[in-house]
Amino acid sequence: MDEGKPAYKRVLLKLSGEALLGELSYGIDFKKARSIARELKQIHDLGVDIAIMIGGGNIFRGSRGVEEGMDRVSADHIGLLATVINGIALQDALEKEGLNTRLISAIEIRAVAEPFIRRRVLRHLEKRRVIIFTAGLGSPYFTTDTAAVLRALEIKAEVILKATKVDGIYSADPMLDSNATRFDSIKFLEVIQQELKVMDSTAVTLCKDNNLPIIVFNLNIPGNIKRAVLGEKVGTKVF
Ligand code: UDP
Repeated sequence: MDEGKPAYKRVLLKLSGEALLGELSYGIDFKKARSIARELKQIHDLGVDIAIMIGGGNIFRGSRGVEEGMDRVSADHIGLLATVINGIALQDALEKEGLNTRLISAIEIRAVAEPFIRRRVLRHLEKRRVIIFTAGLGSPYFTTDTAAVLRALEIKAEVILKATKVDGIYSADPMLDSNATRFDSIKFLEVIQQELKVMDSTAVTLCKDNNLPIIVFNLNIPGNIKRAVLGEKVGTKVF
């Protein structure tokens, strides 16, 4: 591996809504959005094409509505719209760093975001625009993890960068079990068989069937996105 040379030409970064919480317990911390944007600018400057799938958990998750007695489909529609709100905030932060961006929504909101048209998105990436995918797959009963994998395959991203608040995948919950150990790398089948919490099972299976690796890493350690892109040891690689 050449020092300073990216290991991947095109990446899909899965950011959960919680990534935008920063110091808050609800909503969007704009300082946090700016700091993520600064890190993304650095890897964009290395020549890496970037697409992001943004979640909505900092605002609303469908499961919360269901717990309160809502219809699942209506609850998921609220969750989908929450991801669009996050996408607008992230777009603003990225543009403040001087990056050109395109906001894509899987449900039609024409005044705010483009629809997903694969060839058009590929053209944006060729023109070095950062793509922000919102509204997941536009369908209820899915998560933004599964949406991230499908879009990554469609745009031929070489890796899913799954940004989390933990340092990777552990044998058990490190908060509850002091013997929990972190894997440097692990096979898809082991993740599935051991029911390790990485992404939802649909997303992991889709990666496995299509040989799309996932790197799970801690977003709260500055420089980690770049380390992952440079192919340095960071978090856990699922392959
Ligand atoms: N959602 C959905 N279909 C999708 C993606 C997301 O219905 O394709 C809804 C679902 O209610 C979910 C919410 O949007 O709870 C927010 O997405 P997610 O929970 O994946 O966000 P994250 O956990 O990454 O913040």
